[in-house]
Amino acid sequence: MWKWTQINHLRLIILDCDSLNQAYIDFPYHQYLPDIEIVKINPQSQDQNIEIKYFMEDILKAMRCQSYETILISGDMSYLKEIMTVHIGTLLIGHIQQKDLKYMPDFVIDSIDLLADVLLGQNKGYSGEVLAFENKKGSLLSCQTEIVADDGKRYLTELYFGGRYYPEKHQYLLDDPLSYMILKFKHVYVDIMDTFFDEAVMEIRKKEKIDALTYIPPKPQDIEKKRFQRFLSLKLERNAQDGLMLKDLLLCQCDFSQKGNDLAERRQTVKGVFRVNGDVKGKNIILIDDVFSSGSTMLEAMKTLYEAGANKVIALAIAVSQMTESPLTYQKLVCSHCQEPMELVYYRKTHKLLFGCPHYSSHPDQKSIMSLRLGLFCLKKKNRLYYEDYEYDEYGVPIIYS
Ligand SMILES: [Zn+2]
Repeated sequence: MWKWTQINHLRLIILDCDSLNQAYIDFPYHQYLPDIEIVKINPQSQDQNIEIKYFMEDILKAMRCQSYETILISGDMSYLKEIMTVHIGTLLIGHIQQKDLKYMPDFVIDSIDLLADVLLGQNKGYSGEVLAFENKKGSLLSCQTEIVADDGKRYLTELYFGGRYYPEKHQYLLDDPLSYMILKFKHVYVDIMDTFFDEAVMEIRKKEKIDALTYIPPKPQDIEKKRFQRFLSLKLERNAQDGLMLKDLLLCQCDFSQKGNDLAERRQTVKGVFRVNGDVKGKNIILIDDVFSSGSTMLEAMKTLYEAGANKVIALAIAVSQMTESPLTYQKLVCSHCQEPMELVYYRKTHKLLFGCPHYSSHPDQKSIMSLRLGLFCLKKKNRLYYEDYEYDEYGVPIIYS
């Protein structure tokens, strides 16, 4: 749940009037949040030469609100992409398309009836992120995709995700709980990953009759080196009760690496690497994976199952890898004892994530660690979009906060 703006800290809503229909502009926001400030903007008539950073700084300054107290509501995905780079909360009205998955806003809703749930904090966000943050329920993000088989036949189906994965190389967002858990799951069993898949599969089964559950298979070298097989560690207890178990319906025939490849190369590298193991004819299948990056691997695996006669193949991944960059340099928390940066750490005693420096366990007191909730809030303050805020002291001299 690494959102730049937590709903319970919300003080300002910015409405993009160019992209929203009138119902969202006239919505009774004060009925749900009595003290909220509303600013209406028309980005299309703004001077295009003004950087988004300065434009937003001016609004925040005029409203005396911080970026971590602000959410922007828009129906324009390309505008939201810009807004998230300056660390302001984002809510998309509409549907996510596959090409936009790498820049996912904090919330996506497709009808005005769902707006109150967001404002009241009942919609907490994407299920994987909410689970990693506070072990509560969230919702799945979905988008449609089309799979084209080698014979030209087209299949329209869905991709489902539990949230966003932030790769370290992009430096947009470090210290993300879900991303930390995903990396941990590559090596050991992680109970919240099990809960995520179990609940997500149950959720999809409410919409579609599912006959089989399978996963992206390990590469031959992973089997040979006896690497941890994360999907086989899943218990999926609720689904197992009705007999839906994870099966190895796909096998990987040769080793391949996608590192450093561009999209066209990725598609080429993965072509034909999978083969179907068992009978999939006429079946509705959920195919699971951890991180969806370019999607080449997942889409190739789906194609392989369709070509073997599957009726429908639905993809489910924990998260989509994000590409968002920011003009603001990400600043980490610093330990008050040793001044070294604090990072997310998994505290074995409580099975919880917290913030600590590399030496936290040998520091004399508990002040050297910070709870996940407090740490994330401090990071939002530290990484806010900064504007100079003038207040005057009793002598009329401006006080500048740093
Ligand atoms: Zn320290």
